[in-house]
Amino acid sequence: MSDTTILLRAAHFAARHHRRQKRKGSDGEPYINHPIAVADLIASVGRVTDTLTLAAALLHDTVEDTDATLDDIEREFGAEVRAIVAELTDDKTLPSEERKRLQVVNAPDASRRAKIVKLADKSINVADIARDPPPHWPVERRREYVEWAIRVVAGCRGANTALEKHFDAAAAAALAAIRG
Ligand code: ZN
Repeated sequence: MSDTTILLRAAHFAARHHRRQKRKGSDGEPYINHPIAVADLIASVGRVTDTLTLAAALLHDTVEDTDATLDDIEREFGAEVRAIVAELTDDKTLPSEERKRLQVVNAPDASRRAKIVKLADKSINVADIARDPPPHWPVERRREYVEWAIRVVAGCRGANTALEKHFDAAAAAALAAIRG
C-alpha cells in the first residue's frame, strides 16, 4: 500500500466507524471532524510526515469509541499502527476517573508516535472546549478538563516542540475563555 492509500483508507475506516457519532459541542459536529483535525494539526503544525503517526491519528478513537477492534486495525493497517492505536485506547472497563489518572501516569512511557497524537488530541479538545463547550458542562468541569489535559501533556514533552507550544497556547486561551 502506498502512503497515500494508507491515509485515505484510515480516513475512510474512521468515517465509517464514527458515522453515527457527534462531538459533544452544541453544534453537534460529526465526530469524524475530530480525528481529521488531529491528523491535520500533526501534519501542519507538527510538520510530521510519518504515515504511521498520521494514520494512527485518524484512527485514534475508533477502538475506544466504536465497535472497531485492535484486530480490525491490524488486519487493515498492520501491527505497527495497531500498537500505536492500542497506546491511545483507554480501558473502558475501568471507571472514568481511573482512566483519566492512568493517562497522566502512562503518558511518559508512551512511544514518540503516541505522544505526538496525544499532544494534538489534547490541543484540539481544549480548543473545542473554549470554542464550543458541551452545553451541559458547567464551568468547573471545563476547567478540570483543561487542567487534566495539561497534566497528560506534561508527560508527552520532548516529542514535538511545535505541538507542545501549540497546546500551551490552546490551554492558556481555553482557561482565559473559561474565566470569561
Ligand atoms: Zn480524540
